[in-house]
Amino acid sequence: MATYIPELAKQNPGLLGVAVCDLQGRRWEAGDWRAPFTLQSISKVATFICALRDNAFDTLPRKISVAPTADGFNSIVNLETKNEQRPLNPMINSGAIAAITMVRGTTIEDKFQRILSMIGDMAGNDTLVVNEAVYRSEKRTGDRNRSLAYFMKSTGIIDGDVEELLDAYFRLCSVAVTCGDVACMGAVLAGDGRSPFSGQRLFDSKIARMVKAVMTTCGMYDASGEFAVDVGMPGKSGVGGGIMAVSPGRLGVAVLGPALDAKGNSLAGWKLLERLSAELDLSIF
Ligand code: GLN
Repeated sequence: MATYIPELAKQNPGLLGVAVCDLQGRRWEAGDWRAPFTLQSISKVATFICALRDNAFDTLPRKISVAPTADGFNSIVNLETKNEQRPLNPMINSGAIAAITMVRGTTIEDKFQRILSMIGDMAGNDTLVVNEAVYRSEKRTGDRNRSLAYFMKSTGIIDGDVEELLDAYFRLCSVAVTCGDVACMGAVLAGDGRSPFSGQRLFDSKIARMVKAVMTTCGMYDASGEFAVDVGMPGKSGVGGGIMAVSPGRLGVAVLGPALDAKGNSLAGWKLLERLSAELDLSIF
């Protein structure tokens, strides 16, 4: 498990849960689907959606690229060497930290609340809260993220109070969810931005298309290519052990399995998605 965040080392590695949500909001669940876990990098999808929604469509690429990476999710090297110092994509830590600053709001707290509301609206759950123990653990040990953020401040990618920004990032990573919540989030993307519960359009279909494309190429970090081959769905993992996957026009899927591979993706979750995808013919390719 992600022992670099000490609180996450306390998770039960044997948990295995799955939930599926269709475009009518019907849900199927199995195993430990009620077990709470933290969103971690899955929150990056909501941050990206908000940054796209709150800016002219062509603004974001000037600050954040959409290039896949062959390095880890917390890699700093490309900030100095590639893409005129832009973060490679919004699905890795540097890109997500930069994307928070692009969300509408006069204060960082406003931006945080806006992203949290998007997560709640997508999940169809207005009772989501931050797991305080995980948040404090991330904040205490988040020096890699701190270095990414200060580096980006030095190059003008971000401005303002870095610690406050990191605080919002750590809190977004620490939002507690279940597979049921995350499957519903996936169903909104499957429905091109429309909530299966409220029928409300949460974001434009143009945004949904872009987010699914970036999830496909970057959502599993440097394992996105293998995931496309094995599973074939736009996906986003988090080091809490969750993976959100999208079957466009059909389903949102969430899996939980806290034991991770070397790249930070859920081992059992990946295998479960691979089998589900084969059985239900969910690959987009
Ligand atoms: N909170 C984690 C971090 O910043 C998120 C990373 C992840 O889920 N891959 O390192």
